[in-house]
Amino acid sequence: MGPPEAWRRALKSQTRCGWRVPAVFSYIIPECLQRAMLRLLHYLFHTRNYTFIILHLVLQGMIYIEYTWEILGYCQELEVSLYYLLQPYLLLIVNLVFFTLSCVSNPGTITKENESLFLQIYEFDEVMFPKDTRCSTCDLRKPARSKHCSVCNRCVHRFDHHCVWVSNCIGAWNARYFLIYLLTLTASAVTMAVMSTVFLVQLVWSDLYLETYVDDLGHLRVIDIIFLIQYLFLTFPRIVSMLGFVVVLSILLGGYLCFALYLAATNQTTNEWYRGDQAWCQHCPHVAKPWIYRNIHSHGFWSNLREIFVPAAAQVERKKK
Ligand SMILES: [Zn+2]
Ligand SMILES: [Zn+2]
Repeated sequence: MGPPEAWRRALKSQTRCGWRVPAVFSYIIPECLQRAMLRLLHYLFHTRNYTFIILHLVLQGMIYIEYTWEILGYCQELEVSLYYLLQPYLLLIVNLVFFTLSCVSNPGTITKENESLFLQIYEFDEVMFPKDTRCSTCDLRKPARSKHCSVCNRCVHRFDHHCVWVSNCIGAWNARYFLIYLLTLTASAVTMAVMSTVFLVQLVWSDLYLETYVDDLGHLRVIDIIFLIQYLFLTFPRIVSMLGFVVVLSILLGGYLCFALYLAATNQTTNEWYRGDQAWCQHCPHVAKPWIYRNIHSHGFWSNLREIFVPAAAQVERKKK
């Protein structure tokens, strides 16, 4: 008996979206489990849902509870300035405001009403964005730098990417919120890592520096780094685990923030950066060698940054008034 119709439909769309179970697993994992995995992946990454938003808030909540529960109290005992101790809360408030804005704001959805306005904003490069093309799903003319988001089922002006963490597209209208959200999230992870490290270093410095211990063989030894790590992990397991997590998070977020700032400074979207190497001349598909994509939208560092915070469409509308 074949799979039910709903499964078949889901599998069809998963194949369209690119989700496939690798051949090696298809022999090991039962077919029903494969279907369940594909459906889960499709739900997580190809539908708008709250899973990653909830996961984001739970992880952030856990880190802040741990910070308030243990590190804040210990740091106060060690007389760390309140100015530094309250920094993570300030960052949290700003971060949550911009996280909410990134989730709920309109990224620049193209509609019949604003289609003609967006068509005037950016020049068509005839490589990545040819003139006079229509979106086959929305049946709207495609402005330069726009893209149809298959998750949200809409065309977005200056489409950057669809972010599962905010369950929204990032486009011309909300790129500024997303950048500040990313900046404050990275800053709060770094601040947490610094505060935890300061606490552990101060503790080691004041209590354990140049102390001795008796090892398993009964020898008197000066405390070394291995002993210190073991001691700290056994005495403060939650703080050390949190420190490890926020350090990894800071590196990942820091790297992504640098990439986002590079794109902002050079006036590129993630979509353009990704497709840059694959751009083919639309009029000569028979030409074997791809055309080199040239970014024609960059107008200098400050002008590019300004475009993130004041979208080009808003600048054009302001000029008309
Ligand atoms: Zn579309
Ligand atoms: Zn989207």
